[in-house]
Amino acid sequence: MRDNFLVFGAPQISDAEIDEVTATLRSRWLGTGPKVARFEQAFAEYKGITPAQTAAVNSCTAALHLSMVACDLKPGDEVITTAMTFCATVNAIIHAGATPVPVDIDPRTRNIDPAAVAAAVTPRTKAILPVHFAGYPCDMDALLEIAVRHDLRVIEDCAHAIETEYHGRKAGTLGDFGCFSFYVTKNMVTGEGGMVIARDTDRIARVRRLALHGLSADAWQRFSDKGYKHYFVEECGFKYNMMDIQAAIGIHQLARLEENWQRRQHIWQRYQSAFGDLPLLLPADPAPGLRHAYHLYSVCLQPAAPISRDEFLQAMNQRKIGTGVHYLAIPEHPFYQQRFGWRTQDFPVATAIGRSTVSLPISAALTDDDVSDVIDAVRELLG
Ligand SMILES: *Cc1c(COP(=O)(O)O)cnc(C)c1O
Repeated sequence: MRDNFLVFGAPQISDAEIDEVTATLRSRWLGTGPKVARFEQAFAEYKGITPAQTAAVNSCTAALHLSMVACDLKPGDEVITTAMTFCATVNAIIHAGATPVPVDIDPRTRNIDPAAVAAAVTPRTKAILPVHFAGYPCDMDALLEIAVRHDLRVIEDCAHAIETEYHGRKAGTLGDFGCFSFYVTKNMVTGEGGMVIARDTDRIARVRRLALHGLSADAWQRFSDKGYKHYFVEECGFKYNMMDIQAAIGIHQLARLEENWQRRQHIWQRYQSAFGDLPLLLPADPAPGLRHAYHLYSVCLQPAAPISRDEFLQAMNQRKIGTGVHYLAIPEHPFYQQRFGWRTQDFPVATAIGRSTVSLPISAALTDDDVSDVIDAVRELLG
């Protein structure tokens, strides 16, 4: 038995981040400033775009919300999304004033099913919001074809998918908007934090303005040494800007992104070969031409498993190993049932997966011994 608890999704933090945060504090420039600009520049380089196509914000939820506000959605407009996602995806649609329309998923990849999307399109549909689940890219050719056919915007929820690629194209650059999360459990962290990217620089200019109260562009410089400038409120925006303290962490996390991706790929492969004979449905390895971000390693307990999913979660906890559930299907939640009348039986794939799935730790911070502990515990419970 381990002597310390293995926290699910614990981030990997190095001295570089600690020193940069300290330097930021000592500089006494804590808010949006030079480090956010540096971070946007570095993120743009990673994605092969320009800094004018990026806007750092304080969460992926904010990124999703602003992307949809920038689509000028009106009450009654519908946004089709997946039934297998974090609630933030759906809540952002509601906050943008539109109606979320969840659809079922592909059982192999757990990504939104393009056939279900096509079937859900109505004259009120304005956008599709796919999630690259666990970092496995969605079937973007099929989704983009539906979008072109019906003149829909596409907003990619890339919260799991910083390193994801689809036939050589980077996640977040395929749709109109790509939204990223740097929350504490994600592949790259800034504490809280997010990023919007878009092909169209006018759209990003709008997102930037919306992220800072709807103030004119000059407002971003209003605390600099360039001299006082009046700022003007051009629309009713939000308070979603990223701080330099957050960017200070992100700059160094981004520098280690690929190294950490390789580490997670190694852990993924150890799990895949260790669990092949257990009563588990293992996650899909990426098909040729696709790059997986290896954000989550999620298995499903099969009916032959000797214990239930919830018993398994408890038993792992007793063995001092933290696990996660990604996710109970969206229609399981009482709010959505009451507000929209969604019923789990209309989403059989997402519902069944949500009731049988468990995510095992796959952070780059895990040691080889940690990974062995996870493997031993899973084999002891299910072998
Ligand atoms: C984490 C997550 C979000 C929200 O990200 P925050 O940065 O915490 O706002 C949105 N969508 C998915 C799929 C997520 O996993």
